[in-house]
Amino acid sequence: MGLSEFSEAFNQTQKKINKAADASGRSAEQITLIAVSKQQQEDNIEASLAAGHRVFGENRVQEAQQRWAARKNHYHDLTLHLIGPLQSNKVADAVRLFDVFHTVDRPKIAMAIAKEAVRQNKDIECFIQVNTGDEPQKSGISPDDLADFIEFCQTEADLSINGLMCIPPIDEEAALHFGFLNTLAARNNLTGLSMGMSADYEEAIKFGATHVRIGSALFGSRV
Ligand SMILES: *Cc1c(COP(=O)(O)O)cnc(C)c1O
Repeated sequence: MGLSEFSEAFNQTQKKINKAADASGRSAEQITLIAVSKQQQEDNIEASLAAGHRVFGENRVQEAQQRWAARKNHYHDLTLHLIGPLQSNKVADAVRLFDVFHTVDRPKIAMAIAKEAVRQNKDIECFIQVNTGDEPQKSGISPDDLADFIEFCQTEADLSINGLMCIPPIDEEAALHFGFLNTLAARNNLTGLSMGMSADYEEAIKFGATHVRIGSALFGSRV
């Protein structure tokens, strides 16, 4: 993929974001477009950087290090979002690399991220991943445990929480989950909503998404 190809995909996507925001009386400026660069080829990454994009999402710490650690020295205005599960033994590396964490979902990891951010003197933002479909194999905190977990993060872990994130079950109406996540956020006085991927970001924006995570619609299919 070259610069013009990326730019076209990006402009198309941004246009749809603007339209969805308009349709729900929101400003598109309230919506952060995270380009999900996982498993993408180098020329796609280079094209997006050449086009001026600086906000990227990755779901694995090690893969993200390979793609971004050196580039961070060149591009000081990068913002990197971790959108995949995090293990305790990767927390130090993750805090070094990432600026925003979307998958905080248990006390141990909340505590570890908070401690490491202090140790590295790094400003980070955090979202709690909610398992809105209560799927047994999926990460995320159960909706029933959310209020207590937010309380834990804010008081015991001293980790400030910007909002909530979800990945709807594939075989269900995504809108139901977006609406539910919106309700949970409002109930807990949180404003950030990380929801919506290539197939459903317009829908997510109607339900208040502040961060959409878009991979294949920008870059094409993954290798
Ligand atoms: C891969 C991934 C995305 C992007 O998916 P696309 O369908 O390619 O837009 C978004 N969110 C998470 C958590 C992902 O793992």
